[in-house]
Amino acid sequence: MSGYRSIRAVRNVIEETLTAEGRHPSAYNIAGIARDAFTARGGGGYSTSLDVEVWRAAVDKHRRPFGLGDTVRVVVSTKDGHTEHHYGRISQFRKTNGGIYRGRPVKPHSVYVELDHHTSGWLGPLAEVTPAVDDFEIVREWRDIHQGCLSWDSAYRCLRCGSSSYKSARVMAVHRASGQRVRLCEECFTDDELGRLGHEVMFYERNSRQTITELTENPELITEAACDSYYEKSDGEVYREWADAFPWMVPVKAAELYAAWKEQARASAGA
Ligand SMILES: [Zn+2]
Repeated sequence: MSGYRSIRAVRNVIEETLTAEGRHPSAYNIAGIARDAFTARGGGGYSTSLDVEVWRAAVDKHRRPFGLGDTVRVVVSTKDGHTEHHYGRISQFRKTNGGIYRGRPVKPHSVYVELDHHTSGWLGPLAEVTPAVDDFEIVREWRDIHQGCLSWDSAYRCLRCGSSSYKSARVMAVHRASGQRVRLCEECFTDDELGRLGHEVMFYERNSRQTITELTENPELITEAACDSYYEKSDGEVYREWADAFPWMVPVKAAELYAAWKEQARASAGA
């Protein structure tokens, strides 16, 4: 991008870039980003050349403040030393001294977040809270949403209501870290769905801890030969099935060995 354009054109560029990054333009002060990231020149024109670091700083600065009821993600440490990503809604703002605001919160220091899958809520600095939407890529291109669909009309139904209404999916939310996704119609696409998908990933990770430890300590287990019997599986087969289902969790060394194993299997199948 280069050249100088009107504020209208710059607004469009900003909104498109925010959307492409999976952010909600409505959560940002667009005029503020335009001012900081696109230097105004004489005559009211704006530069549309974009510096990545300046852009990031402007976006962080001009995010609208959190509000009550916002769906956010926090990091929770478990008793056995693991960290988990939990999602929930902001239910209270607190002052630096922990006090509760009587009126409207001014520059709140901490927040209390109600968590769905935890015994207690989460109380911590606002700086450690991430908007849930930042963890997801939101896709609205029909082609991308329905790519690879094998049904008779090549369209995925909405996961929630599609089986009764036959509504096609219009939005796809992709969890960035894992690639796990959900396809929904506009009506069913809510912040709660983001939290639900995020928690699914969290439960997969919680249930996989044992496997991750085993493959970290003995990565070669993933290449163990298959069982001769049709009715039984070797440990290697079980590990490989797990790795195919949850590729983002496979420890690095085991992932390398598995990639090489697949390469070799392909070569000997082609020979
Ligand atoms: Zn729906």
